[in-house]
Amino acid sequence: MAKVIFELPKMSENCKECVFHSGVMKTSITLNVSVRCPYCGLENIVPVDIDGRFIPKQIVTCDIDMGGCDRDFVIDPRIKVTADVYRIEGV
Ligand SMILES: [Zn+2]
Repeated sequence: MAKVIFELPKMSENCKECVFHSGVMKTSITLNVSVRCPYCGLENIVPVDIDGRFIPKQIVTCDIDMGGCDRDFVIDPRIKVTADVYRIEGV
């Protein structure tokens, strides 16, 4: 199962228009997703481009440089949104 790691980039001079610091959503962002290889169990960090609502499946090669098995597997990324809940007092 894919677990999404959301990393907020550092603010730079060009950040006035970027999705993270302007509050305006741009058309596509890239998230680093941690996926576990189904063959050897190594966690691979995979950049996933999210463009609109559709996120395509993609083939990942288990990273042999990180001690993986160099085999290909398919990931099917999806986004899960959670929400915190608060009481409204005095209503
Ligand atoms: Zn592997």
